[in-house]
Amino acid sequence: MQIKKAAFILPMLFSAYALGHGTATKPDESDGRRIDFPDTGKYQTLVVDLHTHSVFSDGHVWPRIRVGEALRDGLDAIAITEHLEWQPHLADIPHSDRNRAYNDAVEAAGDNEILVIAGSEITREVPAGHMNAVFIEDANKLLQFGIPEDPSDAVSNYTRAGEWPAQQAVENANVQGAFVFWNHPWWSRQTPNGIPVIPEFHTNNAKKGLLHGIEIANGNAYSEEAFQIALDHDLTMIGVSDVHNLIDWDYKPHEGGHRPVTLVFAKEATADAIKKALFAQRTVVWFKNLLIGREKYLVPLLEASLTMDSAVYFGETEIVQIRISNRSDSDFQLKNRTDYTFMGRSDLVEVPAHDTIELYVKRTQKSKKIKLVFEVLNALTAPKKHPFIKFTGQLE
Ligand code: ZN
Repeated sequence: MQIKKAAFILPMLFSAYALGHGTATKPDESDGRRIDFPDTGKYQTLVVDLHTHSVFSDGHVWPRIRVGEALRDGLDAIAITEHLEWQPHLADIPHSDRNRAYNDAVEAAGDNEILVIAGSEITREVPAGHMNAVFIEDANKLLQFGIPEDPSDAVSNYTRAGEWPAQQAVENANVQGAFVFWNHPWWSRQTPNGIPVIPEFHTNNAKKGLLHGIEIANGNAYSEEAFQIALDHDLTMIGVSDVHNLIDWDYKPHEGGHRPVTLVFAKEATADAIKKALFAQRTVVWFKNLLIGREKYLVPLLEASLTMDSAVYFGETEIVQIRISNRSDSDFQLKNRTDYTFMGRSDLVEVPAHDTIELYVKRTQKSKKIKLVFEVLNALTAPKKHPFIKFTGQLE
């Protein structure tokens, strides 16, 4: 009797083991949580999260869960960027190889359509603060601290690991060809007013070409000052989740929420093309319902997302019926910048995500062409500056 029972349980355990490893399961794509923005005329629009954590630093899930979440969110690429120096789980999960999270994520990704990008978080106190190095070759070379004597003493291990100058870690990352960005610049005991000021450490590295980007959105925070720093210091704009727990808990995708992401405009969906695009600053940050980026990349995204589908006379009237469609995940808030007025609407028009609206345009003079101009209020090309979008229609 006992033997039979054991024989029954063993295959169960083995099959559970098999399910728990290997590639991540393909998600159900009908739940509407996939982040979706159209390609622009010149580039593919790739959805990327370059800052996440797992149990291999201070996150609370295994790397394969990060990959599973990324697949559910329709991400094209993800980086798991463990703190090299801050290792609170080291006594429970000993790992002398700091590439563990990356290797596990690559295995979990398997044949799924997701790119796993190698990265680490260089973690210091101010002025350096935290920086992510992505597209690295070997995380171990960004740390000069062997296996600690007492792995349970995370604080003193962090202090000792941090004695290696941050500048050397940044330079080593650059030797590996990494793309380096400054994380959550407003997050510091030195900015009690929440207003980040770029320290000399980062201005120097930006000038030397060793610092390439800056987070302007991280988790639940977006910073206008960080946005301005990106413009002033010629840095790529990055938006990330920095998730430690579960995406579902932090961003509630089942309720229409989403993690902050970087939309990367790449020539193709490869890691190499993403890297090139990041160095070329071809990004837009999507944070809550805001689209934030340089005009030359944001406006083509708006033009790909919003289109005028038709412009016709409404019945026997001189009123022009216009259809505007939105092919993106963003609910667009538009402010009319022409003298025309609309039937039944104010000068504020919302075009919900993946929806089409009708506008009835009143004009005092007839003409064969109709041109509408809107200020896109949920998009920013500089702090407090919204881009414009134009639609031109030909009337029969
Ligand atoms: Zn982090």
